Amino acid sequence: MSYVITEKCLGERYGVCATVCPVECIHPGDHKGQEFMIIDPEVCINCGLCLPECPVGAIVASEDESPEWAKINKDLTPSYKNNPTAPERPKNDPPKRPGNKLVN
Ligand code: SF4
Ligand code: SF4
Repeated sequence: MSYVITEKCLGERYGVCATVCPVECIHPGDHKGQEFMIIDPEVCINCGLCLPECPVGAIVASEDESPEWAKINKDLTPSYKNNPTAPERPKNDPPKRPGNKLVN
């Protein structure tokens, strides 16, 4: 099992989740032409540190909570995992994605 990054991250990519991850398993890339991040399910240790850091609540705690996005995280991992670290946005930066709200 692994934590999963969902649709709310698309076009946002605040990046703070990757900064706190102790095993560096959160990687940036593009998905459908928008900035995105994935969690490598083979490396995630389910520590839970990333979830409360995401300003827009894009992270869920198990693959069961979002099977569709769990598959997307897994499928994108090989092409994302060697990408350079994404710059971090301030946590109070207003969301760019329509419908997203600051929750953390
Ligand atoms: S903190 Fe949230 S929006 Fe930012 S990159 Fe991580 S999952 Fe995406
Ligand atoms: S749960 Fe922990 S190990 Fe997994 S992605 Fe989040 S911070 Fe990294």
